[in-house]
Amino acid sequence: MDYEVIIVGGGPVGMWLAAELALAKVSVCVIERLEEPVSQSRALTLHPRTLEMFDIRGLKERFMEHGRPISTGHFAMLDTRLDFSMLDSSSNYTLFIPQVMTEQVIEEHAKAMGVVIRRGEEVVSVREQDQGVEVVSVHVSGPQANVSAMTAAYVVGADGAGSIVRKQAGIAFPGTDTTLTAVLGDVELTVPPENGVRSEYTERGGAMIVPVSPDVYRIVLTTPHLMRVSKDVPVTLEEIQTELRNVLGTDLGVSNPRWLSRFGNATRQAETYRKGRTLLAGDAAHIHFPAGGQGMNVGLQEAANLGWKLAGVIRGWAPDTLLDSYHDERYPVNTQLLRNTEIQTHLLGFTSAVLAHRQLQEEWFRHPEINSSMAEQVSALDVCYPAGEEVPQHPLNGQRFADFPLLMNDGTKSYAYDLLHEGCFVLLHLAQDAKVAGELCNTPLAHLSYVEAVAEELPVGWSDVHTVLIRPDGYIAWAISVEATNVLSAIGKGIARWCGGEPVLL
Ligand SMILES: Cc1cc2nc3c(=O)[nH]c(=O)nc-3n(C[C@H](O)[C@H](O)[C@H](O)COP(=O)(O)OP(=O)(O)OC[C@H]3O[C@@H](n4cnc5c(N)ncnc54)[C@H](O)[C@@H]3O)c2cc1C
Repeated sequence: MDYEVIIVGGGPVGMWLAAELALAKVSVCVIERLEEPVSQSRALTLHPRTLEMFDIRGLKERFMEHGRPISTGHFAMLDTRLDFSMLDSSSNYTLFIPQVMTEQVIEEHAKAMGVVIRRGEEVVSVREQDQGVEVVSVHVSGPQANVSAMTAAYVVGADGAGSIVRKQAGIAFPGTDTTLTAVLGDVELTVPPENGVRSEYTERGGAMIVPVSPDVYRIVLTTPHLMRVSKDVPVTLEEIQTELRNVLGTDLGVSNPRWLSRFGNATRQAETYRKGRTLLAGDAAHIHFPAGGQGMNVGLQEAANLGWKLAGVIRGWAPDTLLDSYHDERYPVNTQLLRNTEIQTHLLGFTSAVLAHRQLQEEWFRHPEINSSMAEQVSALDVCYPAGEEVPQHPLNGQRFADFPLLMNDGTKSYAYDLLHEGCFVLLHLAQDAKVAGELCNTPLAHLSYVEAVAEELPVGWSDVHTVLIRPDGYIAWAISVEATNVLSAIGKGIARWCGGEPVLL
């Protein structure tokens, strides 16, 4: 084998997955057809759960340096914005950061972790063999005969919507085609919005303006006329000027377009995220209308879900079936994502019925509970993975692990997320139960670290927690209550269920 894992596609999702695998000491190669990273940014946002995920690896500040936190998010361009500041998270905001910058930070991190990146090679064939996969690529410049064939134990298709990996594996991509389109323009403005952001929606059309960089603004337009234009028709600056005048009464002095594009609402999801030794992640697994800025965010979270599982199977401490749980956990999350973007697309209409529906939705979003429920969904803080019956039952099981301050056993102060920087499972003992602690500190697994600490400030729902097992991707495998009987035996079985091996004899 040339590598343990080959990732096809070096976009944000492929690079993040590669870095996660390298953290777990898996040998990994990314094959990317572009010789240089793209210069245009599709995504402009990193949402709360993605920021938490970077925090969990100690990388959040690198993204914060290049972005601007904003306390709200939008849903279907409604005036009542989703209030992220009310979310129970140390990252209770969305970070405005161009995708180009996000990709740059991730790629630098992946390289620093030792990931091999082969740019300028297009994968043309992926074949599963008995013990692995063969991936054939051609060099995009130079002689056509320049072909490379490499083998690996697993291949991951992070190669975007048109994924060759998905097609060659014969994985169906059911869903619906584009029925409406919208336009974006990254441009300069002589009359920028007063506080940098503007959003208007009337029967004439919708316009949203947000900053991309100090000089450049993104205009997103959806109007009754534009919606019906085919995705393949090139966008012109004149078209943007005309539509802006129509919607806002001014063209804001648009000039110097950096990027003009038309995008549609095709909505599809791969029928399975895993087939044998082939896995899919990011846009290769799901596409939708980019409403609410979620696509890249969910792709990155998916990569975090897959990384430690693939590493566990390759290292041999996890059964092959752990890889099936990648599909089982992420497919429903993305089914919900597709539904929320379809609802947003529906609300981007201009008939009197849709406009009335928008008004009703505005009223609903003024109710804090409804607003925060949707904010939790768009920010992905509501993601919870079923924990199964065979571990100790606790309401925290499967929930995301939120950050909180800790007083460590050695007297130092820390934050819970610091415990997960190395990508291991963390067995966190909070109850200061001397008998249990004495046994737990001997757990013999390399991918499990044991920590004793006192919580300085407990999140909601944690007051009875004796010991908790946190997965490498920052979700709670299980928690045990101080009320539980046979605590040691339950912990031993719980470790074996998630971290492999025979039940640890405690
Ligand atoms: C207008 C617009 C706005 C958006 N805004 C947001 C937003 O604000 N927030 C958000 O979260 N998401 C947003 N998205 C979605 C986001 O851009 C995508 O979800 C994200 O880029 C997906 O990342 P990926 O790594 O899965 O795929 P991609 O970014 O598509 O990367 C795939 C990579 O694979 C490479 N590749 C493809 N085929 C091959 C091959 N055969 N061999 C080798 N390499 C190959 C490609 O060159 C590419 O680099 C937006 C999308 C659009 C269209």
